[in-house]
Amino acid sequence: MREIVLATRNPGKLREMAQIAEPYGIRIVALSDEVEMPEETGSSFLENARLKAVHGQIATKRPVLADDSGIEVEALLGAPGIYSARFSGPDATDERNNRLLLERLEGQQSRKARYRAALVLFDGEREWSAMGTWEGEILHVPRGTGGFGYDPLFYVPELKLSAAELIPEEKSRHSHRGKAMRMLCELLAEQG
Ligand code: IMP
Repeated sequence: MREIVLATRNPGKLREMAQIAEPYGIRIVALSDEVEMPEETGSSFLENARLKAVHGQIATKRPVLADDSGIEVEALLGAPGIYSARFSGPDATDERNNRLLLERLEGQQSRKARYRAALVLFDGEREWSAMGTWEGEILHVPRGTGGFGYDPLFYVPELKLSAAELIPEEKSRHSHRGKAMRMLCELLAEQG
């Protein structure tokens, strides 16, 4: 079984990615706590994911997979985008970010939003990447208790539920990250 280190401190992401990768004969393991994550100084999701993958590979000498993701809101011209985690400033929390998003959307016509995820795998020589998106709308009031980040405000019209109302397996089936991860696994499977 091929083993890949995932450059994240988020145990939820590790579980989700590991579940998707397992049927492809890929074991996803956690990055050691001793490896520091680099600053996300890139100007796109892909650049930030690449930065983390390359940094992790150099530190561990093993194949490292990294992801970067966020939400783009149409009425805010794509903001918060790569700044999603820190939308409400240096003391950002999910709750503050969600409150600020609702404030910024007051009086706006469009509530359309899109989650976006970029994945990069780097083994020291070769690099693989995959992107995934998930279309939705920003609710006026949070709904649901699952997920994280903007999930309670992210309404998925085709399911008539918010992302926070989905069980993890269902979220992973539809989500930006789930789509990107399946695409990456397919790429690796094609190459044997
Ligand atoms: P990162 O990819 O861990 O840096 O995540 C960036 C930020 O984007 C998170 O802190 C969340 O605010 C937001 N985000 C990314 N993916 C999701 C998701 O699946 N649900 C909710 N928020 C997300």
